[in-house]
Amino acid sequence: MKVCQVGTAPVCDTTAPRLDGWRCYSAEMSAASPSIDHDDLDLACDLMQHATNLAVAARRTLPDEAIVRKQDGSVVTAVDVAMQVLILTRLREVFGEVPTIAEEDLQSIGGKPAAESHCRHLLREWGFEGGEDRIRWALSSGGLDGVTRGVEYAWVLDPIDGTQGFIDDDHWCPCLALLRRGEVIFASNGYPTVLGGMLLSGLKGNGSWWSPLAGGECTRAVVSQKPLAAEEPVRVVAPARATPSQTEARLALGRSTGHDCALVHSDSQAKYGHVIAGLADVAYSRRGNGPGKYIWDHAGAVLLAREAGAWVGDTDGREIDCSLGRRLGGNDAVICAARGLGPMIATELAARDRAEGTGRTSRVEVRGT
Ligand SMILES: [Mg+2]
Repeated sequence: MKVCQVGTAPVCDTTAPRLDGWRCYSAEMSAASPSIDHDDLDLACDLMQHATNLAVAARRTLPDEAIVRKQDGSVVTAVDVAMQVLILTRLREVFGEVPTIAEEDLQSIGGKPAAESHCRHLLREWGFEGGEDRIRWALSSGGLDGVTRGVEYAWVLDPIDGTQGFIDDDHWCPCLALLRRGEVIFASNGYPTVLGGMLLSGLKGNGSWWSPLAGGECTRAVVSQKPLAAEEPVRVVAPARATPSQTEARLALGRSTGHDCALVHSDSQAKYGHVIAGLADVAYSRRGNGPGKYIWDHAGAVLLAREAGAWVGDTDGREIDCSLGRRLGGNDAVICAARGLGPMIATELAARDRAEGTGRTSRVEVRGT
């Protein structure tokens, strides 16, 4: 077992190079949260490891007809939907009914018979025995929205973040986070393309821990605080399919630190995983003039990166507010940085918001006119 044994006094040693440390919880937390047994969060990690490995295998034999477009034009596959069904069904078996924010729903592949058929094929192959009722439940139970500060616990699930990368054999990431009264307190993300294939899990106050998807020892994730040497380039994450303007913006941002800039291509929460793993120095996502980024694309990594020692915040250094429902409507950007670069990057992105008329300040001015 990887968890502290039930019935024995937990012994927390956060310096130990094993996963056990983060699985130990304070009595105060446990007493105040009867609806989730925190010892069982170990099972959520095991589930995400298992599900990620299933998706890795499913990707190798993904038929073209299992790749479709949602009504909003974004790409989705039968694997995304099957993963959500599997994960939410298993979470309910372990934790009972917990309010959930999830990306997929009945419309994701609904009305696309070939994709629906492949989804059922995968679920059968994975040993899912829930039947159509459970499938419908799993695809209709992730619609929680609105402020979650009054919600004791809520899951946030993106069964496959970075579906295009999943299709392209590029970066992708199954992402699970747990909110407690609107704050991320636990996360477990599969990173099949990072460090040879890893699961990264963390609990607030107890660090983030890598464990190989193939099984094996756990190691604590530690983000470097060592300042860049003068000749060292800053490594900034850029989308795999970056437009010329996205590429130029990231190069300019990197150079604003006074260093040369090298781009590291990644998408989804894997981009934050690159910073946590020491493969990049800066990853960010700007809101622009949009309604706010979807919470499931960021929530888990916000906790995991911070617990590993990264700088995580908005353009003004504020916390990322994950308590507003399905969107991060209170933030202009999610910035994740290593090597002490966070404040400098935040200042530069704030200046860009002002120059481009985007960001919180601009929206306030627009509302006021
Ligand atoms: Mg997704």
